[in-house]
Amino acid sequence: MAMDTVSYQKSLKVAASYDVIVIGSGPAGICAAVSAARLGAKTALVERYGTLGGNLTNGAVSPILGSVAKGTLRDELVERLGVPDSDEIGATQQSHDIELAKRVLVEFAHEAGVKLYLQTPVVDTITQGDKVTGIVIGQKTGMCILQAKAFVDASGDGDVAYYAGAEYEMGRDGDSLVQPVTLMFRVQGVEEDALTCIGEVDYVEYKGERFLDYTTRHCKEGHLPPNAASVRSFRTLVPGERLINTTQANGISALLSDDIEKAEVDLRKQIDQVVEFLRKYVDGYQNCFVKSTANTLGVRETRRFMGLYQLHDEDLRHGRRFEDVVVHKASFIVDIHNPSGSAQAEGVPEEVTPYDIPLRCLIPKRVDGLVLSGRNISGTHRAHASYRVMSICMAIGEASGITAALAAQKGIEPRQVDYRDVQKVLLERGVNLFE
Ligand SMILES: Cc1cc2nc3c(=O)[nH]c(=O)nc-3n(C[C@H](O)[C@H](O)[C@H](O)COP(=O)(O)OP(=O)(O)OC[C@H]3O[C@@H](n4cnc5c(N)ncnc54)[C@H](O)[C@@H]3O)c2cc1C
Repeated sequence: MAMDTVSYQKSLKVAASYDVIVIGSGPAGICAAVSAARLGAKTALVERYGTLGGNLTNGAVSPILGSVAKGTLRDELVERLGVPDSDEIGATQQSHDIELAKRVLVEFAHEAGVKLYLQTPVVDTITQGDKVTGIVIGQKTGMCILQAKAFVDASGDGDVAYYAGAEYEMGRDGDSLVQPVTLMFRVQGVEEDALTCIGEVDYVEYKGERFLDYTTRHCKEGHLPPNAASVRSFRTLVPGERLINTTQANGISALLSDDIEKAEVDLRKQIDQVVEFLRKYVDGYQNCFVKSTANTLGVRETRRFMGLYQLHDEDLRHGRRFEDVVVHKASFIVDIHNPSGSAQAEGVPEEVTPYDIPLRCLIPKRVDGLVLSGRNISGTHRAHASYRVMSICMAIGEASGITAALAAQKGIEPRQVDYRDVQKVLLERGVNLFE
């Protein structure tokens, strides 16, 4: 007879102990780990896949969008990735070299002395009261425990915070729907002067009408997958190549295995339809072919944890300053890919006034031993739609790494770390934190 639950008890070996453990190696996690290690913390970075980078590599997401004030690890990383930089947000519209990034990120971490755990999923936490003291990792030899004085959850979904029971929100107000998931892919064989289109905000004219109107009509006629009317095509460093951000699955929770399987299968099928559309209906794409696809579907939105402060829409609108600022002048539109249809959720996305992110957004309300990082920090659905881009996540990552390292060094909780001490480190590194 099938049973609903099975009781399971096991003693697990403590495999190693660190000052700081960062979970997840996306734009936030890689910067968090390097940042902590450069402060002298014995640091480990735990990643479920074999390649570092999160969306930056495995998700094949590009270009690196958004901006923050000068001097953060974001500037160093972008330079190492060889992306032509600009003060304009994503002005170059140029994709970084994803293969190069796989190597560069390992060098970035190794040079700082970060210990890497690759192909190592975190499956649970060990807590004492409300404090995270260890993570349970899955290895071929069985599960074991890694301990640290402070943890940084840069897993995107906030798995560690979730396992530790931290409070979170998901989705937009009203129906709790999240932004759709997308499987990115690259095509080659595109003529040099063929159109590029960075998104719905990019007014591209095609055959006498707006390209988005043209693709929307084709979507309605069934030439594109349902809800995939936004054909976003970015130039890369390779001539004749374009990165395509178009496949789309709505109503998916990337936290549920059944949803993940459905989306991975469906999105892969959508690629053929999108390529067929490009070949038939967009000049200069008639000979294009798929060069590569992302290793995993890209997830825009899942859990947003409740921190000591929740970043609000108005903070972005008015470019709010905070005394405990750790990311200064973050800037990107409120980019909400429609949770229940095609293109943008709100028509033309709202512009923001470059805003600050306070340290309190990185500190979970109740759970100790833990710093939030990247897209899972404390903010509303609309605020998240802006700070989720990679430049801003890198800067959040750097600040989260400093906070965890200081907590470990001083033997205190991340919530007890004085924001002035975090700011001091950032300023010493040459980060512009104030006007
Ligand atoms: C399709 C798509 C297109 C986008 N387009 C752009 C764009 O053009 N420009 C831009 O700047 N941003 C874009 N974004 C947003 C941006 O990519 C993400 O918001 C950003 O990468 C978030 O960074 P992160 O470090 O918080 O998380 P992620 O990049 O998601 O990294 C999280 C890491 O944690 C690891 N991980 C997760 N769970 C565990 C676990 N339990 N154990 C161990 N490891 C774990 C993951 O494998 C991953 O490496 C896009 C996002 C998507 C999905």
